[in-house]
Amino acid sequence: MIAPLPEPGAGLLSRVLDLLDCGVIVLDAQACIVHWNAWLVPRCGRGAARVTGHPLIEIFPGLRGSRVEAAVQAALSDGTATSHVPDAGNRTPFPLRPAGSFDGDLIDQAVAVTPFDEAGQRFCLIEIRDISDTAERERRLLEHAEAMRARSFIDGLTGIANRRQFDVTLARELRRAQRADAPLALLLFDIDTFKAYNDHFGHQEGDACLIRVAQEIAGLLKRPADLAARYGGEEFAAILPDTTREQARVMADRIRTHIATLNLPQAPEACHPHVTISVGVAAFERARLNDEAALIAAADQALYAAKDGGRNCVVVDGD
Ligand code: GH3
Ligand code: MG
Ligand code: MG
Repeated sequence: MIAPLPEPGAGLLSRVLDLLDCGVIVLDAQACIVHWNAWLVPRCGRGAARVTGHPLIEIFPGLRGSRVEAAVQAALSDGTATSHVPDAGNRTPFPLRPAGSFDGDLIDQAVAVTPFDEAGQRFCLIEIRDISDTAERERRLLEHAEAMRARSFIDGLTGIANRRQFDVTLARELRRAQRADAPLALLLFDIDTFKAYNDHFGHQEGDACLIRVAQEIAGLLKRPADLAARYGGEEFAAILPDTTREQARVMADRIRTHIATLNLPQAPEACHPHVTISVGVAAFERARLNDEAALIAAADQALYAAKDGGRNCVVVDGD
């Protein structure tokens, strides 16, 4: 016959609590500390003897008004357990630091508060787990997701906004213009005879030329709300909020002139000796050009007209 195991003594249980890889605080019905395990000692710099018998809030005044304090009150008054004190805004309710460090960052914590009754008295168990690794991993994942999101709005070749960002921005700015009855202009740029450039200099040089033109266009747009985007292949776009048709014409011609006077060599077969662009301009009009498709179509038609007109020129919708 197997002999029954002896009841574990208080010494054994206390030893086990000290070996746990989490902080254990037991409070009596008055929220005074009756147990404090060894895990807490190097992380908060206080041994059990210094805290036992003291109210929790006296040892940790920073808990006043916190969710941990509310969870402890709920546990002691009506026996409510809180398995994971939800406090996204404060992951460091207890001033605990990595073991032995006095000036490091506070440990990110998950806190559980569990009431229990023993010998007719109400107690409350507080478990504190170190979730710094998980929190750090979560932070890195969030950063990564943010970087991915940012990248998904950037054109991989030229580094300026891509078509997706263009679409989102145009829709947003059109809504804003409609609401505020404010002007809004759209410019479409197309590099002239770029096929000839590629054929003459090669595709890699063509890519370098696209990067240069994109950066020059973006560099000329000074206002924070302006957006330069790669619209497709060798076509670019600019969304200019609070810009009238006539102001957009001036801006378009400034950009066209700027590109032409960079004096980037073109292929001998091209229409001009230097790299040039044609520009189509359209501006928001409440009655006619009042959605994305209509505005883009008008700018595109103007761009075609600029090509027909000999290239290296600006045509404004309605001219
Ligand atoms: P047009 O003056 O009428 O605009 O003539 P074009 O030669 O520029 O027009 P077309 O549309 O016939 O040619 C556009 C060229 O742009 C062809 C294509 O190979 C080139 N292109 C588009 N995307 C890229 C790219 O990412 N890199 C390079 N190097 N070339 C590109
Ligand atoms: Mg084109
Ligand atoms: Mg072209």
